[in-house]
Amino acid sequence: MSTMMAARLVKAGEPLRLEELPVPEPAADEILVKVAACGLCGTDLHLAVAGDIPVERTPITLGHEGAGIVAGAGRDVKGLREGDRVALFPAAYCGACRHCLQGRHSLCDRSKVYGMARDGALAEYVTAPERTAIRLPEAVPFEIGAIVTDGVATPFHALRSRGRLRAGETVAVFGCGGLGTHAVMLARLMGAARIAAVDVDEKALARARALGADLVVDMRQGDPAKAIRAAFGRGADLALEFVGLPETVEAAIRALDKAGRAVICGVGMARPALPPLAAFVGREQSVLGSFGMDRADIEDLLALVAAGRLDLSASVSARYPLAEANAALGHLASKRDGVVRVVVTPGGT
Ligand SMILES: [Zn+2]
Ligand SMILES: [Zn+2]
Repeated sequence: MSTMMAARLVKAGEPLRLEELPVPEPAADEILVKVAACGLCGTDLHLAVAGDIPVERTPITLGHEGAGIVAGAGRDVKGLREGDRVALFPAAYCGACRHCLQGRHSLCDRSKVYGMARDGALAEYVTAPERTAIRLPEAVPFEIGAIVTDGVATPFHALRSRGRLRAGETVAVFGCGGLGTHAVMLARLMGAARIAAVDVDEKALARARALGADLVVDMRQGDPAKAIRAAFGRGADLALEFVGLPETVEAAIRALDKAGRAVICGVGMARPALPPLAAFVGREQSVLGSFGMDRADIEDLLALVAAGRLDLSASVSARYPLAEANAALGHLASKRDGVVRVVVTPGGT
């Protein structure tokens, strides 16, 4: 029996355990993927460090942003074969519930998220249902394919599907870490007329400005809603929130113009307040949740990268071998050097 190395979550707050395990057998409808790259994100820090997002079982192999090469297939696999390059949707969705049938894959009733409910891609090999694998165009490197699946697809879903951004609108982005940075890039690509970026970190704000934000606001220096109105002459048509704190959610809503939409991606247990109904209703404003992505978001982003329309080459801040998975998590947690995305490369760089 052949074996592989995997980085496993045993207990939140403790280092991941590097363990030798049997290479998993794909089920009839699954493929075996030799992992080339796996992105890490804030969710991994919640799972492995803070422990405030529960996992279904431990130990579990972490990693929900995987890409690699098909290395085996179950007997019912029809479309993919050994050697094909793929990126994996961050969860094994069922493909049969009403949300999956409507293309709303992150809402799947029987979703099994990698690294939370089934073994993930922070390993040399991972198995995945064939339906949840997405062909990776030749022109897209594995590490870019990996980060697109979540770090870029999540803000794209918020902008396009939930926020319904139209060319010529004004956009405000609250929280300019990995997701917010990509939101600024995508809002520009999608034709936003003016973009405001809000954060409390100078490096993050400088990066947002370099990537196309017209206005950057340090939230420690006053109300961003006022700064946005002063600079743009009106409020935001679309505000995106990636922090998950009441003060940033409330500031995002305050920043809206009439008919504005606030799309909240940040998660937490806090309860932000709505404005007085007279203001909220009279201005026909919307507050929307946005969770993850649809398969189509990943496919369309990969097409944009392959066509040279979207350059994500600066988004991979650091690469680590699998044996240094804990150092990779530590780098992400430290936020040092204006980190956008950290990638682990089990197949070597
Ligand atoms: Zn992620
Ligand atoms: Zn489903």
